[in-house]
Amino acid sequence: REATTEQVHLALEHDINPFTNQPHTAQYKKILEARKSLPVFTHMAEFYKIFNKHQIIIMVGETGSGKTTQIPQFVAYSDLPHTKNKIVACTQTRRVATTAVAERVADEMDVQLGQQVGYSIRFEDMTEAGTTFLKYMTDGILLREAMHDPDLSRYSTIIVDDAHERTLATDILMGILKTLARRRPDLKLIIMSATLDALKFQKYFAVSADALPPLFKVPGRTHPVEVFYTQAPVSDYVKAVIRFVLQIHCTEKPGDILVFLTGEEEIEDVCHRIKVDVDNLIKSYPETVGPLECIPLYSWLPPQQQQRIFDPPPKAGSPHGPPGRKVVVSTNIAESSLTIDGIVYVVDPGFSKQKVYNPSTRVESLLVSPISKESAQQRTGRAGRTRPGKCYRLYTQKNFVSEFKEQTEPEILRSNLVSTVLMLVKAGIKDLVKFDYLDEPAPESLLRALEVLNYLGAVDDDGNLTALGSMMAEFPLDPQLSKMLIVSPEFKCSNEILTITAMLSVPNVWLRPSNKREEADAAKAMLTVPGGDHLILLNVYNEYIQNQHDKDWTRIYYLSAPALLQAVNVREQLERTMMQFEVDLVTVQDQSDMSSAIKQALCCGFFMQVAHKVGGKRNYMNLNNQPVVLHPSCRLDTQPEWVIFNEFLVTNRPYIRTVTGVRPEWLLENARSHFDLKDWPESEMKRALVRVSNRMAGRFGARWDNAARVGEIDE
Ligand code: ADP
Ligand code: MG
Repeated sequence: REATTEQVHLALEHDINPFTNQPHTAQYKKILEARKSLPVFTHMAEFYKIFNKHQIIIMVGETGSGKTTQIPQFVAYSDLPHTKNKIVACTQTRRVATTAVAERVADEMDVQLGQQVGYSIRFEDMTEAGTTFLKYMTDGILLREAMHDPDLSRYSTIIVDDAHERTLATDILMGILKTLARRRPDLKLIIMSATLDALKFQKYFAVSADALPPLFKVPGRTHPVEVFYTQAPVSDYVKAVIRFVLQIHCTEKPGDILVFLTGEEEIEDVCHRIKVDVDNLIKSYPETVGPLECIPLYSWLPPQQQQRIFDPPPKAGSPHGPPGRKVVVSTNIAESSLTIDGIVYVVDPGFSKQKVYNPSTRVESLLVSPISKESAQQRTGRAGRTRPGKCYRLYTQKNFVSEFKEQTEPEILRSNLVSTVLMLVKAGIKDLVKFDYLDEPAPESLLRALEVLNYLGAVDDDGNLTALGSMMAEFPLDPQLSKMLIVSPEFKCSNEILTITAMLSVPNVWLRPSNKREEADAAKAMLTVPGGDHLILLNVYNEYIQNQHDKDWTRIYYLSAPALLQAVNVREQLERTMMQFEVDLVTVQDQSDMSSAIKQALCCGFFMQVAHKVGGKRNYMNLNNQPVVLHPSCRLDTQPEWVIFNEFLVTNRPYIRTVTGVRPEWLLENARSHFDLKDWPESEMKRALVRVSNRMAGRFGARWDNAARVGEIDE
């Protein structure tokens, strides 16, 4: 059966909801009226004409035109997935967008979220088997599913949304889907994107050069936006943002403000500072300054808070007082993943946090970097959704023209591919170089990924998946973490390593409000235990569990309650996977052995993220012979010669964060192929490791078979 627009309109207007057999609510009818004015909605007939005829469609439409919310519903009315036990999937590139959009669409369809309409993100599955037929999910989750079921047989249509964002998972997914479409002629694919680079997607999915898949293009309906640049470069964009927001609030006509910043901490800080300043202004000028509501938006925001971005602006303080205004302070999420109606003013400092990977040093880090022209254009467009708007760019026009790149580089070209390669190998895709990439990653990056997996014991020397690697792929974790977790029973501390893994998989639990830094640091000191940051995380989790009945506990200790709650949830889920694969949950009986057991297990996963002490109190050198400094948040009680770290980050200088001291013997013993020192270039660290290795050779004799060769090179 093929849906016709008339039939769908009849169903939409009908009193009874066809999916629940319940009468439609008043809210449904109200939302339906709003939907009717979305550009995508008005092109329903054209959509069906193309969809009914083609297997693969490329769709392009302005952000906010209704792609994400409407197209999957159109498909559901045509596929009728519930009648044939199939699911319509729509991928998203970000967690927050996934949950927010699923919630919205559940409302639009008048069903309960988690029933007919659900979502799935890492560590959170809000779907019901047998009931959910429209599923929003992150691209990473669908990629994981492809690893188990290469035919993705549960799905009748797969919609890849925001393909223009070119996340690593979306790129790989498109490669898989392209091949799958040939194997499964019954599977329909829709690739949706916001920018006009559609030809690239069309060519990629073309069966032959003269048979491009059709383009379904919905014209946007945006209003003009006036763009302002600064006269001179801005030195402190955080300060500038606050000044601009206040200025807009005090002098411009009603209309909400959207500010782009780079990360959670910065966003919370700016929200706080704006609030303090506005409160003062209102006190001084109650007749002219209205209330201002500041709402943060970033990826790990708790769900209850997410929906606040869609709330109407605050009402005027008094009946004839000045009107209220809403400010949303967001990461890139609001650039094209989520559309907030009512935005008239955009403040764009021109930065975002971007992944940067250097395959030769194997270091991946998040760097605050200038955005591209294309991103700046998207950001500007956010101001013209409902009426003409204004965009304040906190950089000079000269800078924009000469320094900004045209487009953001696809993530696959600047990512660590270890996790992805493990998934592909597990999915049976052997020849990674021949995989059909939209943009090919550097062969060097692929080789590096295989090499790292080899060091971790996940693939053998010929690139074949090992039993360990096969199990590692089952955990929704970075391979370093899954390796550590799987081997931890050998050290009798899998219970503790499980907790640490959960804590490393959730957002930062430590809060440090800008006006309460000292108090927060003092509270942290009370939870600090000797040995290093990983052990402190373990302690915090255990204390949290013991004090869970006490509602004030997290507040008193300046800890993030949502993050800790999430850790409990993540821990439970990982525990289930461990049980499934018979990884024992054990605890060291003798407390005095605990910390060294844990540290040895840490070494099994993190032997590539090691640093060696050089002069100076907090100064270390990493494996690339590059100086790094302990992050100010590190709470090491001693000055260990060797440390492993969870994270390398560069702000004003290169830092290592979440750090624990280890013995070098544990590194050498648990990662022999990695520490095959004869191939290492000369460095201070190599010399130190060789000394350790020689010492061990003396102690263990023949067991340490590389030692003789190593000795020859050294000294
Ligand atoms: P696109 O995917 O083309 O960018 P969307 O389908 O996300 O567009 O958005 C269409 C409309 O739905 C927008 O006007 C947006 O504001 C609205 N919308 C989306 N999610 C929500 C929500 N959770 N609450 C209220 N409105 C929403
Ligand atoms: Mg969208």
